[in-house]
Amino acid sequence: MEVPDASNSRKTKALYEFIRRLAFKKKLNPDNAVTIFVTVLSKGDTRGLSDEELSAMTGIKQGEIRNILRMLYELRMVGYRRGRHPETGATRYYWYPDYSGINMTLYWRKKQVLEKLRERLRYEEENTFFRCPRDGTRFTFEEAYEYDFQCPKCSSMLVEEDNTMIKEVLREAIARLEEEIKRDEELLRSH
Ligand SMILES: [Zn+2]
Repeated sequence: MEVPDASNSRKTKALYEFIRRLAFKKKLNPDNAVTIFVTVLSKGDTRGLSDEELSAMTGIKQGEIRNILRMLYELRMVGYRRGRHPETGATRYYWYPDYSGINMTLYWRKKQVLEKLRERLRYEEENTFFRCPRDGTRFTFEEAYEYDFQCPKCSSMLVEEDNTMIKEVLREAIARLEEEIKRDEELLRSH
């Protein structure tokens, strides 16, 4: 499977944004969640990193780290192996990045974004829009009709808007994403 590449910044950004949002929902610190993920991704590749090591590397408390790792594990973005503490012999967990899970997460994120873009395009195609020439507020035909084609904020006459460009940009973004998703599906099938 294709390994996420830090140089592919658009992909990386989408991934971090996803982790941030999820951490927020779970009442975890979003920045710390990204920090832990990045640290596991960059340094945990061969033998993995223990909670203790992650704490020493990032300054984040072990209890919080465990909650973050649990969240990432539920998403299959990290995996772990059981090991022994070199001195005490106590059981320790070593965390490493799970690339197939990471790619799967990215794939589902792309599908969600595609659905949103399609919805937005439908909205643009099915409506006629009006805009206030002074403050730029946008209205659907129904809204503009209700206001007698006068801006409710500044009373300027509303002007019909040509949304051809918006639709064009949306169609291009959709086509690009569909292409990417198709490639991801081919990759997922071949593994
Ligand atoms: Zn106005």
